[in-house]
Parts: sequence; C-alpha cells; structure tokens
Amino acid sequence: MSVDIAARVATLHETINAACDRAGRDPAGITIVAISKKHPQAAILEAMAAGIRHFGENRLNEAQVKIPAIAHQTDTPPVWHMVGHIQSRKAKHIPGLFQRVHSVDSVKLARRLSRFAQDDDLTLDVLLEINISGEDSKHGFLAHNWQSDESVRDALWQQLRDLLTLPALRVTGLMTMAPFVDDMDQIRPVFRDLATLRRALTDSLDVTLPDLSMGMSNDYPVAIEEGATLIRPGTAIFGPRQV
Ligand SMILES: *Cc1c(COP(=O)(O)O)cnc(C)c1O
Repeated sequence: MSVDIAARVATLHETINAACDRAGRDPAGITIVAISKKHPQAAILEAMAAGIRHFGENRLNEAQVKIPAIAHQTDTPPVWHMVGHIQSRKAKHIPGLFQRVHSVDSVKLARRLSRFAQDDDLTLDVLLEINISGEDSKHGFLAHNWQSDESVRDALWQQLRDLLTLPALRVTGLMTMAPFVDDMDQIRPVFRDLATLRRALTDSLDVTLPDLSMGMSNDYPVAIEEGATLIRPGTAIFGPRQV
C-alpha cells in the first residue's frame, strides 16, 4: 500500500509540474492539501512519508479522532485544513483542531469561529467558500452571475467587509467546488470566475487574498492553469474511499 501512495504522490507532482509549465507558473506556488476523509491513519502516515505536509478533512467527528491520533505518532504534525460544511453549533471545536478552514460559508459561522478562536487565544486562517455555479446543492456565499448582477455583488462585498472586522479570523482567500461533471469546458469557467472575483475583491477592498483553493482529483490540472494556490486531491493520493 505504501508503494501505491508514494507512487501516486510522485505522479501528482509530475502532473502539477506539467500544468505549471503550461501556465508559466512555479510549482512552489501550489500547496497540495491531501483530502484524507474516510481514509485510515496509516494512509495519512504513508502520505506524510511521501512528503505531504497538509491534510484536509470534511467531518468534525472523524477529525476529532484522527488529528490527535496522528499528532501522537509524529514529531512534526501536519497542517490540518477543514474543507467540509460546519454546523454552527459545532464551531467551537474547530479552532483547536484545524489551522485553516476552507469552508466558511456564512457570516454567522464566521462570527462564531472568531469568537471561539479568541477564547482559545488563536487566530484562524480562513477561506470563503464561494458558490459560483449557483447550484442549490452547494454551500457557500452566493456569487452566481456576480459580474452582471449588482445585487449579488453588493451582498457579497458587504459580507466580506463584515468578515474582515472579525478579530480572530485572517481571511486569506476563496474556495470553490466545481460542478460534478467530466467536461472541463464546464469546469474551467467556474475556476476562472473565482480568480476574477478574487481580483475584483482585492482591487476594491483594501485586502490581500493570496489563496485560491480549487481543484480536486479530477480537475486539479485545470485549476492550476486558472490560478489555484491550494489544490485538494483525495482519490489521486489515497485511491478510492472506503464507504
Ligand atoms: C472529498 C473532497 C475533495 C477530494 O475529492 P477527490 O475527488 O477524492 O479528489 C476535495 N474537496 C472537498 C471539499 C471534498 O469534500
């Protein structure tokens, strides 16, 4: 099994390097966040042995078991990223477990995360999850048609302004999920739109947003071509998830 994970990580680096070549980017600007949900601790340790330093989980219950267990088994614990929807009433557990949250999807949740981080004397790096495609099934701040619809834009800008006032959160960027399709011609415009939105926000509000979290196992090369700084492969590193 370790051979598999090490080999998949090597392939991942080759694919990242090729995408960076096409886009004229430096691979050092891409951070791999290995999504380890539903994979055992042994697989995480193997990925660490293959050089992966960042891991992502999407469910609090699972993370509450795995994160401390991994910490006990290594001298240099990885950086943990929360990438799944967080119920408000569970927000208090997040700052002590995760260093970064990609899935801040409401001002209400952000306020709670800031309050609990403050209680713990921590500052939490967060990304705003953005629903670009407008699908009902997706969480996130609604940004469908933000370029043409002024009311969508106004709401979004106001929400970011509110978030920037929260003392214990550092807003570092934006995250999105592409539609679950195989057609890259449908996926690419979503990634491109997120990059455009980031530029518009940084140009008009006094803020730097270095991070764009986009791209999963099926679409990370396209995400890199469109400017991703954090990619979130799961299957491409660990193989199929046990269900
Ligand atoms: C599961 C998940 C991933 C990884 O998906 P793969 O298709 O296995 O690469 C990435 N991001 C989020 C938010 C996820 O929930």
